[in-house]
Amino acid sequence: MARRKPVSTRTRFEVFKRDAFTCQYCGGNPPAVVLHIDHITPVSKGGTNGLDNLLTSCQDCNLGKADVPLSDTRPVPSRATILELREAREQLEAYQAYLMEERATREANATVVAELLYRQVSYKASSTNLVELSGMLKDLPLAEALDAVDITTRRGLAHAAAWRYFCGVAWTKIKAAREGISTFEALERRQNPRVN
Ligand SMILES: [Zn+2]
Repeated sequence: MARRKPVSTRTRFEVFKRDAFTCQYCGGNPPAVVLHIDHITPVSKGGTNGLDNLLTSCQDCNLGKADVPLSDTRPVPSRATILELREAREQLEAYQAYLMEERATREANATVVAELLYRQVSYKASSTNLVELSGMLKDLPLAEALDAVDITTRRGLAHAAAWRYFCGVAWTKIKAAREGISTFEALERRQNPRVN
């Protein structure tokens, strides 16, 4: 039987962060669930501790996968419980820090988009618009948002009309990403609803 080398704390949190602290099977987040690290290919079957073989899983989903070894061996239950509580608290703290960091990044990116809107289509984003932009950036990478400003600019729009058009393009991009189609295709569909 293959010996399990434990996944380092650093790697664990790297995987959690990559997976947005979300169980990849059921979508659960702390504190509702305690997160574990799941091996895609079990160690017993030659799986490694490499990042591409690791996945964030909640305890229930992890335990449900009979073929997959548990994240940690737990020799003494009471000690295990203490470690699990500590781990749960650390996860929650790290998750909150992650959310704050993610939020700060989105707010900064919203400002970048607003500056480009102002420069290219003379639209001055209100504080409400900035909140809307920050919300969009949850699902829209910054480069895509900037591209939406360029698309709006190429339409020759300005002021409030430009903002409305930009929002339309941005949401179309978000929808396209969800459906796995290109922006071009999504814009085509939007402009010609019959084309499918
Ligand atoms: Zn789960």
